Amino acid sequence: MAKHVPMRLCIGCRTRETIDSLVRVAFDEANDSRSLVLDQRNVLPGRGAWLHRDPKCLSTALRKRAFARAFRGRVDTAQLEQSLSAWHTTDTTTYNNDESGSEI
Ligand SMILES: [Zn+2]
Repeated sequence: MAKHVPMRLCIGCRTRETIDSLVRVAFDEANDSRSLVLDQRNVLPGRGAWLHRDPKCLSTALRKRAFARAFRGRVDTAQLEQSLSAWHTTDTTTYNNDESGSEI
């Protein structure tokens, strides 16, 4: 209760959440391009965006081009799309299609 955890906006579902249930997205510093990666350890410098560790939020953000907005420009989301497939294979039991309209 006493622990204060900062909150951030998930750019997928636009819900405010404590950062311990979110994952940070930032530019890959190993690679001088505009390539976005998941910053699992929260160590990458520069601008970041936050997302639930939920395939739905990531795919929504990709589909709505929320990353281009969050990072103010063209971004390469190929690596994020790979992470999305990885999440889908590990989280299939948790995330059933409980709502209609999913084309995934
Ligand atoms: Zn979300």
